[in-house]
Amino acid sequence: MRRVASVLCLLLSVLILVGCARQGQIEHPATAPESSGAAVDSQETQPQEAERTEQALSEIRALGQSPDDLYRTWYEIFVYSFCDSDGDGIGDLKGVISKLDYLQELGITGIWLMPIHPSTTYHKYNVSDYDAIDPAYGTMEDFDALISACHDRGIHVILDLVLNHTGSDHVWFRTAVEYLKSLPAGTAPNESDCPYVDYYFFSNESATGYAQIPGTDWYYEAQFSADMPDLNWGNEGFRADVKAVMEFWLNKGVDGFRLDAAKEFYSGRSSMNVEVLSWLQETACGIKPDCYLVAEVWDSFQTVAEYYQSGITSIFNYPFGDSTGKIVSVLRGAGQPSVVSTYATALEKADKAYRAANSNYIDAPFLSNHDVGRIAGFVSKDEAKTKLAGAMNLFMSGSAFVYYGEEIGMVGSGNDPSKRAPMYWNAARDNGTTNPPPDCTIPDEYPFGSLEEQVTDDGSIYNYYRQAIAIRNAIPAISHGQTTAETQLNTGCVSAFRKTSDLGTCIVLMNISDEAAEVDLSAYADWTLAAKLSVNDRTAALDGTLLNLPAYAVAVLVPAQ
Ligand code: CA
Repeated sequence: MRRVASVLCLLLSVLILVGCARQGQIEHPATAPESSGAAVDSQETQPQEAERTEQALSEIRALGQSPDDLYRTWYEIFVYSFCDSDGDGIGDLKGVISKLDYLQELGITGIWLMPIHPSTTYHKYNVSDYDAIDPAYGTMEDFDALISACHDRGIHVILDLVLNHTGSDHVWFRTAVEYLKSLPAGTAPNESDCPYVDYYFFSNESATGYAQIPGTDWYYEAQFSADMPDLNWGNEGFRADVKAVMEFWLNKGVDGFRLDAAKEFYSGRSSMNVEVLSWLQETACGIKPDCYLVAEVWDSFQTVAEYYQSGITSIFNYPFGDSTGKIVSVLRGAGQPSVVSTYATALEKADKAYRAANSNYIDAPFLSNHDVGRIAGFVSKDEAKTKLAGAMNLFMSGSAFVYYGEEIGMVGSGNDPSKRAPMYWNAARDNGTTNPPPDCTIPDEYPFGSLEEQVTDDGSIYNYYRQAIAIRNAIPAISHGQTTAETQLNTGCVSAFRKTSDLGTCIVLMNISDEAAEVDLSAYADWTLAAKLSVNDRTAALDGTLLNLPAYAVAVLVPAQ
């Protein structure tokens, strides 16, 4: 880790010397605040310098290969809607491979693939076979090629592991059902005759969340839907099979798993779920010590903290993401000091609570995912707020997650398929997938245009994300730091918080309002403006010890050397 820090410092210096594009700028750390007011503007940046910037950035991104570094910038991919390679209209693994250069350019260091296993549904959260690839997505050879191509680029890969339930056509369930059907009336099932009969919860009595096996008087627990029978974590044979599944994929080079519906393993019984997560963490890391696990626990921050007692590496930070999370609520209250001031204190509070439960935790912030809709819609398609939301997510500690299309401000809400629309690569819509999920509503026009249109626009959401990720990757304290509110600077509509880590310290300032702010840094003479990010042409600048922070702008201070 120390080696990584020193190399990062070196590369950061290179990056700072050559400057950055207009929106996200990284400044010279050795320059005192009093004299570092002038930013390098893109108009002053010579092409040669731009090339050197690119080289420095790519070297920083390559550092992501360090096996002990689980702090990454992840990108959630719904393969179905991402990119189609063979013209059948549905995205596939080869399509993902074809877009890896794009993801690397964006600064992404990990991808989360939503379920890729055979399934009877378009979303594939009802798995038919944990050890295979859905033919619509490609072959095992395609998967091996994807892993190899990702690792060549320093990009890790985690798979969505759905272990709360299987599909009702999984061989475990089918075998158990056939066995039950074969029993003479009134005979109790015997696990030694059919082990799979105890992999699920069968009963002769119906109950809430149970479905009936057609033509029998048998029922089974299926809380989500009849084609998703709930699994029994109390069965040791099932756990052995789960271990074998993880072994299979980890031995293929997969870097970890996203654990679906971890709160529902035993619905309503959190202490039992905590035990399952402990077992999964221990088992996975027993197979591959640097395995990365991130669990879905869709609940309050107190509950997330409780689940961190399992020792699991990461849990999605729902209290900050989604339309009801802290980031959106603060952005909706932009311009109100009483709201803005709560952001830094909320970051500190959550960090302390999670860290107290698991001192090795790595937060997993996100704005949107396939279940909750898209961030641009949460902030009424306001471009400045859509951009700042991206920075708020990416400047949180931990492993930040970006949902595909978020980096171009796609919108998507309503039914689930509409949250999972084809990636909007270009206006002609001929460079991705042409067969959307069933019942998916696709906007006639997206508010901020396609990726193709945004790439060449310095002021686009895409270029904002790119620069925000570059800053995140260049200043490791942003992702690694313990977060505390910087009370002295956390005033008015400026949110200020400090990150403290073995890899350095920084202070992040965000103006969460549509009016410019001035921040008195006279008590921060030993700090310097290291990076800045803005939603338009007006960037943060120092005037003596006064920091001018334009509307919705971000500044990062680091200790002067
Ligand atoms: Ca295809």
